[in-house]
Amino acid sequence: MLTEEMINELQKYKKYWWKEDEETEYKEIKKEPFHLLIFTVLSQNTSSQNTRKAYIGLKKKFQISPHELMEADEKVLSEAIKAGGLHKIKARRIIDISKYIVENWNGKLDWLFKKSKEEARKELLKLPGIGNKTADVIISSIHGYKEAFVVDTHMRRIAIRMGLVDENAEYEEIQKKLSNIFPWKKIKGREEEIVGLFWLLAKYTCNAIKPRCKECVLASICNRANNKR
Ligand code: SF4
Repeated sequence: MLTEEMINELQKYKKYWWKEDEETEYKEIKKEPFHLLIFTVLSQNTSSQNTRKAYIGLKKKFQISPHELMEADEKVLSEAIKAGGLHKIKARRIIDISKYIVENWNGKLDWLFKKSKEEARKELLKLPGIGNKTADVIISSIHGYKEAFVVDTHMRRIAIRMGLVDENAEYEEIQKKLSNIFPWKKIKGREEEIVGLFWLLAKYTCNAIKPRCKECVLASICNRANNKR
C-alpha cells in the first residue's frame, strides 16, 4: 500500500503534468463520451502531444459526432488525423465505430452512464478496435478511478517489476493488484490526480530501458529494487 510519504513524493511528477490549457481542453473532451472515445482511439500507440494534434486536425475538418464521422471520406479523415500516426488504421476504426454506434445504439453513448462497470465494459468491447484499455478510459470517466483503473504498457511494466503480478498476468488481474496498493479512502477526491502521478512515475522513473530505482520512492515496496525479481 502506498504510504503518505510516497503519495507526497508523487507530487514531484507534477512537472510532467499537462499544461493548463491542455488539461482544460481534456476536461471539455471528457464531458462528451463520444469525444472521449474518439480522443482515446487517436491516442492509441502515440504520445499525448500527437494525440492532441490529431484531435485538433479532426475538429478542423469534421463535427465530432457519430452521424458525421460514419459518413466521412476515409482519405480526408486519414489526412486530418495524420499527426497522430497509424492514421489509416485509426481513420477506418473511427468510421467503423461511428457506424456501429449509429446502427446499434441510435447514435448515442449516454445510456452507458446508467450501466454498471461490467455491463458498460461489455458493451464498449463490442466496438470495432476497442480493447480493455480504451474501454476503461471511457468507464473511468463514468465510474471513477477506483473501479476502472486504466492499465497501459507503463502500468503493466511497473506492476510486474514491483512483484504485484507475473509476466503473464491478464489485464484484469493487473488492474486489481494495482488498485489494491492505492489507499482510496485517504486520497478521496484526488484519485485521478494521484493515479495520474503514479502513471508518470511508471513512465519516467520506472522507465522501460533503465529504471531509476535509487531515486524511486517505491523502492521499499518493490521486488525488483530488493532483488527479488
Ligand atoms: S524501485 Fe525501480 S523497478 Fe521498482 S518501481 Fe521504482 S523504478 Fe520501478
